[in-house]
Amino acid sequence: MISRLALKYVRDADKNPTALIKEKIEKAKELYQNFGEYFYKDPKFVDLLKKYEKAVEKSNEMMSNMKSFEECYICTVVEKKGCCKIGLETEVTINILLINYFLKKPVPEEREVPGRCFFVGPLGCKLFARPYICRDYFCKRLLEKFDPNEYILLTQVLNEELTLLYQISSYIKNELESLMGEFLLELDITG
Ligand code: SF4
Ligand code: SF4
Repeated sequence: MISRLALKYVRDADKNPTALIKEKIEKAKELYQNFGEYFYKDPKFVDLLKKYEKAVEKSNEMMSNMKSFEECYICTVVEKKGCCKIGLETEVTINILLINYFLKKPVPEEREVPGRCFFVGPLGCKLFARPYICRDYFCKRLLEKFDPNEYILLTQVLNEELTLLYQISSYIKNELESLMGEFLLELDITG
């Protein structure tokens, strides 16, 4: 028997990437409007949110010091290569969009650069909270540039960030399941 989730993927396969991500953005916005206050009143959730925000800032600072953003800028903007290809926005789940809303970070509503991921801007990715794959992927070019010791430290810092992302995503999912029950299955906020 095909599960409801499997059916959802069959339906989604027919949609173009832009329509799919716009639908996710609308769903995330709706969930934020309906349940934002509920989550903000929960001290455990607020604590997780703050820890995650700090962890992202720490990873970003480290990547900036290691000139990772600078190299990606040259690769993407100057050399017109880059790995943030169109279609990769499917990695951005409703849950991740929701986390951006909870953190009051901007979520783009239109694709700015044709042929690129929906979230690419002139200076790179415009999302604060990003999917796992976007945070722990380092291409050969970057790995050759990094100091090996700094890279080990960076993987530790990123590990902390991604563990928090997992914890906060699971927390949101569980809370929404208890608030919305079966209905959440249709939304599939982690896909
Ligand atoms: S990760 Fe590598 S391929 Fe992707 S934009 Fe950065 S330098 Fe380019
Ligand atoms: S880093 Fe940002 S722009 Fe690049 S693929 Fe991920 S979400 Fe898209």
